Amino acid sequence: MKLHLYNTLARSKVDFQPIDPQAVRMYVCGPTVYDAAHIGNARPILVFDLVYRVLRHVYGAGHVKYVRNITDVDDKINARANERGISIRELTEATAAAFRADVAALGCLPPDVEPRATDHIAEMQEIIHRLIISGHAYAAEGHVLFSVPSMPDYGQLSRRPLDELIAGARVDVAPYKRGDMDFVLWKPSSANEPGWESPWGFGRPGWHIECSAMSARHLGETFDIHGGGIDLIFPHHENEIAQSRCAFGHDVMANVWMHNGFLQVEGRKMSKSEGNFITIRDVLNDWPGDVVRLNMMKTHYRQPIDWTMAGLKESEAILAAWRNKSAGAAPSMIAPTVLDALYDDLNTPRAITQMHQLDDAGILSATMGFMGMAATVEPQPAGLPDTEILLRIAQRLAVRQARNWAESDRIRDELLAEGVVLKDNKDGTTSWTYKS
Ligand code: AMP
Ligand code: ZN
Repeated sequence: MKLHLYNTLARSKVDFQPIDPQAVRMYVCGPTVYDAAHIGNARPILVFDLVYRVLRHVYGAGHVKYVRNITDVDDKINARANERGISIRELTEATAAAFRADVAALGCLPPDVEPRATDHIAEMQEIIHRLIISGHAYAAEGHVLFSVPSMPDYGQLSRRPLDELIAGARVDVAPYKRGDMDFVLWKPSSANEPGWESPWGFGRPGWHIECSAMSARHLGETFDIHGGGIDLIFPHHENEIAQSRCAFGHDVMANVWMHNGFLQVEGRKMSKSEGNFITIRDVLNDWPGDVVRLNMMKTHYRQPIDWTMAGLKESEAILAAWRNKSAGAAPSMIAPTVLDALYDDLNTPRAITQMHQLDDAGILSATMGFMGMAATVEPQPAGLPDTEILLRIAQRLAVRQARNWAESDRIRDELLAEGVVLKDNKDGTTSWTYKS
């Protein structure tokens, strides 16, 4: 058996060799928690869940460490918390909790570590400090910028000519910038923005530095696999590489860089800004999690997926047939033909073709379990999405702290009308259930 993975850095499939087979290490860029995740955001989570499952199978479950971060400092978060009248922490906690529930319903295992950016400000400042003293970064007008010309081999991951990179980065022209491509490591915060004291003034980190800090803290200065969607290749991953390599002095940050293709609607990337998105929760109100999961796996992870009703219906029928075939059988072993397909750069379409050919009910059952499709179906509760409920609970807590009991009761009654019952104790709401 050999595991082959496509490495964006090498532009080819490579024979995967972990630095330490006793401790295989993978980092995946996680969500920015300001709003409910859409089904496109679920794709990298699902793809890397499958990579995680394969690695655990090959190296042993106790020998793989999967880190997926939560980005909880971002200007979109500030804006949304203000709109909602709740604290940033309440918004990010509620959104992260809803995200965890959404991806668990899709059969994704939780990562081993789920670091929050705001818990790693000291590590970010340490890297920025190293970059400044080694001449790779400079402070100017409350900002700290990474100096791209200070790194002669910048651009290895995206391999695009400099003028294209400049256009792609949509770089702001700012008086404090020395080079067009230089990017922000630290920026100043006003009194009403989140911020931390630093040698460069009260401020907050740029986006890219977060992942350099969290991956180094939890996986070390170099590790095996780094993943995310293809839109992260540039600038996010390119800049993570620049920061980590220049700060720590290694030739690589991660050995293998893996990127999933887009989930599309009518040929266009699903995105918040296009407005063509459906949330994971909305999809789960209509379809069981394993149908959604199988529907994603029908397409190879590097290809675009067109998200259609017809595709979901077909996946539902396939699962029903597999369930029929495996009904009542105790799971035995995972089909070697399916494992072979997955070892070939996660060839899920071939794995599914192989699953159709499994006649042994026990093997089919074990293989479905391995792929994250449970043998039984859990019905999804209908109604308000979890994020919305958690946000309204947070809003209610804020008005209660302001002793506005009338508004507190109004929010409780409004939720009750939607079938959601809150359970309060003296500190606020501890849990909620759907009215039976
Ligand atoms: P964003 O919310 O844009 O920060 O994206 C969070 C993660 O979801 C990143 O890894 C993106 O690459 C990924 N992503 C966003 N939209 C899509 C999409 N339509 N298809 C696949 N992956 C996506
Ligand atoms: Zn990242």
